[in-house]
Amino acid sequence: MSSTENIDRNEATSTEITASRSAQVPQTSEVSTGSAEKASAALSRIVHLFSTTELHKTVATVYIKSAGRPCEKWSIGNLLLMYIAGTTDGRTYVAWKRAGRNVKRGAKAFYILEPRVITKVKTDPHTGEPVLHEGKPVTYQVLAGFRPSPRFRYEDTEGEPLEEFKPRQVPPLMNVAEKWGINVSYKNTMQGEQGYFEPATNSIVLCVEDPSVFFHELAHKAHSKIEPLKPGQDPEQEAIAELTACTLSEVYGYDVKGNAYEYIAHYARSHSPEQVGRLCMKVLDKVKKVLDLILSTGEETGTANDKKQQQAPSLPNQDAAATTAAPAPEAMIKEVTA
Ligand SMILES: [Zn+2]
Repeated sequence: MSSTENIDRNEATSTEITASRSAQVPQTSEVSTGSAEKASAALSRIVHLFSTTELHKTVATVYIKSAGRPCEKWSIGNLLLMYIAGTTDGRTYVAWKRAGRNVKRGAKAFYILEPRVITKVKTDPHTGEPVLHEGKPVTYQVLAGFRPSPRFRYEDTEGEPLEEFKPRQVPPLMNVAEKWGINVSYKNTMQGEQGYFEPATNSIVLCVEDPSVFFHELAHKAHSKIEPLKPGQDPEQEAIAELTACTLSEVYGYDVKGNAYEYIAHYARSHSPEQVGRLCMKVLDKVKKVLDLILSTGEETGTANDKKQQQAPSLPNQDAAATTAAPAPEAMIKEVTA
C-alpha cells in the first residue's frame, strides 16, 4: 500500500503522554524578522534540555469532536468491520437521511454486530411466580447474542456536505501549508492518532487543535522537500518532525517540551536523557534545514501568521481533504500499533 504511507503523529505511549496543549494560547505571535535566529537558539535549548533532563507532564490530550459520527460509540470490533469496509463513517440508511444524505442506488451495506438483548421477567425460585415490585413484574435483560446490522459507507452516499470541525484558532504557519498546496483538514481520531501527513495526497489531517501537531506534520512535508521520506514511522524522521514542532512551538510561545520529550523518547526506545539527546544530536542538521525551509517559506509568503490566526475558517480545500484523505485501513492499523 505504498500510496497510503501516512506519517503518523501517534500517541506514542498513551498512558504517559498527556497534554492539553490546545488550551494554551501563545503569549505573542509576533514572529517575523529574525525568526531563524530565534528558532536556532530555541532548538539548541531544547536539545540541551532533552540531553540532560527527563521531562514529565500531567495534562490530557484533547481530541477534537467533529460533527459526531455514530461510530464514535462503537466497539473496537465494529470499528474494525467498518475500516475493512473501507470507510471511516458508516451509518444506517435513516441516519444518513437525518444528516441530509441519501444512500446511492445499488450501494451495498456492510454489517456490524449489534447486541441482541432480551427482557425477562424475574420469577421466584420457589413458587415460579413473577416477582412483583409495586404491583409490576420485575424484569431484567440478558445478552442473547449478536445480530448483524446494516450500515452504509459515507462514500456510498450523496447529498448535503457533513458538518465540519472548525478550529477556534488556525495555527501559525498555515500560510506555508497553503503555499505548498497541502490540504489541511480536521477529523476525529480513529485510533488515538493526533494527526498525520499523507504524502500521496499531500494532505495533513489533524485530530487535535494543538498547533504543535500541525507543526509536526508540516515538518514531515518540509522534510520530504529536502530528501525522500521513508514509509511509515521512521524513528529519525519522527525525531526530526517532533524537534521541529517543539522548536516552532517555542518560537510561537507554546510550551510542549514534555510531550515532545516523551515522543522522541519513544522512538529512541529509551527514557534516558543521554539516549534521547543522542537521537536529537543525530538529526540536528536536518532539523535546522527543515526549520529554515519552513520559516523562510513563511516569511516569503508575507506576514500571514498574525492575520491568518484571526480568520479561522480559511483552511484550504477542507471539503476536498475530507473526502479524499481517508487512508486505507491497513495502513492506519499498522501504524498505530507500530
Ligand atoms: Zn510523525
